[in-house]
Amino acid sequence: MQSSKFRYNNKNKKKKKWPIVVTVIVGGILIIVPTVWLGLHNWDIDESLVAISLQQPQNESNDNKIEPQKNEDSHSGVKDEVSDPKEETEEPEKTETPVETPAKTPDEPKESPAPPVEKPANNTYIPNQSLPETPTFKNGILIANKQNPLPADYNKGEDVQAREAFNKMAAAAKLDGFDLVAFSTFRSFERQETLYNQYVAKDGQEAADRYSARPGYSEHQTGLAFDIGEKNYEQHWASASFGDTPAGQWVAQNAHLYGFILRYPLGKEEVTGYMHESWHFRYIGVVPATDMFTHKQTLEEYLEL
Ligand SMILES: [Zn+2]
Repeated sequence: MQSSKFRYNNKNKKKKKWPIVVTVIVGGILIIVPTVWLGLHNWDIDESLVAISLQQPQNESNDNKIEPQKNEDSHSGVKDEVSDPKEETEEPEKTETPVETPAKTPDEPKESPAPPVEKPANNTYIPNQSLPETPTFKNGILIANKQNPLPADYNKGEDVQAREAFNKMAAAAKLDGFDLVAFSTFRSFERQETLYNQYVAKDGQEAADRYSARPGYSEHQTGLAFDIGEKNYEQHWASASFGDTPAGQWVAQNAHLYGFILRYPLGKEEVTGYMHESWHFRYIGVVPATDMFTHKQTLEEYLEL
């Protein structure tokens, strides 16, 4: 019995001791942990609190990231958690793009293609454009400009109607005292190639492109272009000064009556693609030539190219 009593007493004593031990341990933890935490953060309470608050959202956000992305990006199953931050930045873009594309498509036929496509239509070359199989006509008018080249083998020579019209004009000019000469009319693809390469070698391509056509793009290859000058005044041939001579002014004022137009007028380089050429006339027929002369239109404007 004694022993049992003793045991009993011991048990009672032990039972009484446990709450004290637990309280000491728990109390110790409650004191030690904050103390160590404070010690790790320079004994600064604010810094310690900030450290706690910063850690929590980081952990939460990481957890949140992993779950929805694994569901949505099931197609990219190869990707792991490392790529998650990137994927999160991609997500808003992915949702935006389908919204943007339908918004753009109805606008495109109305606005966006018109200015960029039409603006450089006639005054600049299309990069890497190949020469066509057949020449371009609009309203029955043959076109040769920087966007509408001719086939390399388009080689019909000087146009008969154009020559007849020029002869009529020259006869009329002679009555007014001017002896007109067509010093350059038809040029083959090969001839233009030689000329253009010479100009590029002399002045560089950028300068040459302003006054000479690349092979296939010259209006002279149509057989309808006539470079006009005055006999015995060769110094004005193929020169802007021809436009200032009485003969040059006579041609400028009367050419349309014979079916010719001043093809590259002053101030229209943006439209035609070439600087002013007071000597270069294009046969087009009396009616359209008169129409264009009256309205001061270039061929590009008249045909709405
Ligand atoms: Zn010419």
